[in-house]
Amino acid sequence: MAKGKLIVLTGPSGVGKGTLLRSLLRRHPELYLSTSVTTRKPRSGEVDGREYYFASRLEFERMVANNQLLEWAEFAGNYYGTPRQPVEEQIRQGKWVVLEIELQGARQIRETFPDALRIFILPPSMLELEHRLRHRASESEDAILRRLEQAKTEVNAAHEFDLRVVNDDLEAALERIEAALFLPREPLAVPQTLAV
Ligand code: 5GP
Repeated sequence: MAKGKLIVLTGPSGVGKGTLLRSLLRRHPELYLSTSVTTRKPRSGEVDGREYYFASRLEFERMVANNQLLEWAEFAGNYYGTPRQPVEEQIRQGKWVVLEIELQGARQIRETFPDALRIFILPPSMLELEHRLRHRASESEDAILRRLEQAKTEVNAAHEFDLRVVNDDLEAALERIEAALFLPREPLAVPQTLAV
């Protein structure tokens, strides 16, 4: 049976991970995207069980206590975590599982799944990131500022990842991710510098 694999996609809020992921999954429907649990309130259009499983803090803390999460973190005032059982089941079946998670979670996965391929998505610049976050207009000013602060911390840790991809052009970014996933013999690309 094919060997299962874990792929971790990390990058600051607003960098366009969601769009990249949706395109990647459309092109490679065999990939399995893990659905996370969060205590954040649903944004307009988000559906429970599709974008996230939405839970209360108490429910989330119970999942942590019962060891039901593969990794979890508190991000910008809310909890986020990866349900353990479906991911382990898919990997056992030989599937490639994608986790779209923030930095602390990615670091936990490095410890528990050292073979995971960890990819960091970078914005073309911090100014562009701020523009994208504000343009999304789904958060309060306070939440945007917290996410920007968090973004700086995350970008500074980009060197910890196996691959760094600047999301300035969607198609080019996708192709670099595809090369890392499907052409594993290709040398990993030279890190790109970021004008912060
Ligand atoms: P958002 O609130 O914008 O949907 O997500 C905020 C951050 O939480 C993003 O960086 C996203 O990648 C991260 N995130 C989503 N799900 C998980 C998860 O299961 N675990 C961790 N550690 N981070 C997550």
